Amino acid sequence: MKLLFLGSPGVGKGTYAQVLMEVLEIPHISTGDLLREEAKRDTPLGNEIKKVMEKGELVDDHVMLKLLENRITEDDCKNGFILDGFPRNLVQAGYLKKLVDITHVLNFKADDKIIIQRLSGRITCRKCSAIYNKVGNKPKVEGVCDKCGTELFQRKDDKPESVKKRLEVYKEKTKPLIDYYSDEGLLVEVVINKNISEIKDKLVSQIKAFLEGKIDEIEEIK
Ligand code: AMP
Repeated sequence: MKLLFLGSPGVGKGTYAQVLMEVLEIPHISTGDLLREEAKRDTPLGNEIKKVMEKGELVDDHVMLKLLENRITEDDCKNGFILDGFPRNLVQAGYLKKLVDITHVLNFKADDKIIIQRLSGRITCRKCSAIYNKVGNKPKVEGVCDKCGTELFQRKDDKPESVKKRLEVYKEKTKPLIDYYSDEGLLVEVVINKNISEIKDKLVSQIKAFLEGKIDEIEEIK
């Protein structure tokens, strides 16, 4: 199963990708995480990536494509993967098509107001990238990751100035991808307007049933 997750920043796709990766036993490839790893290195490329990300803009296609190709050709991706955060524009989509055959595209959706609330409350683990939220999806101990015990932090690009910019960039550059994958017959919608952790189990079973061909669409859980 070669899955692609689309949806605006903060819609919840990263959280669901982390759960589904365990259920489906395939790796979760987040291009944001790949770039954050690269940005940690004190190299000219790392510093350049860091600057672009902090502004909420998109990293150069050429750099992104190289990092993705390196990751997707690793051994653990042979039986499939969940690609999250890529493609972000039609150039990247064209490139991906030459590289692999995506089997399903899940388009995660939520109301703008809910997305902004989620992003401003989001806290992330410095080590394993697990995602929590100060409102709906708190860790057991404040400020500490449940999975690996590392400190949690707020990403610089989850601060209000960057959040606004990221949502604008998403609307302008990434939305055309929805038409692209719909025309390819690969797109299915996943609406998450409820608190992510409250509906997680039900939604994950529906997604699994859909991927196994047992149901034709994924219904919104109200
Ligand atoms: P994310 O973790 O997916 O929200 O991504 C965080 C940031 O990484 C984005 O705001 C971009 O600056 C950068 N980024 C992630 N994926 C891509 C991509 N496919 N192309 C260009 N920039 C990306």
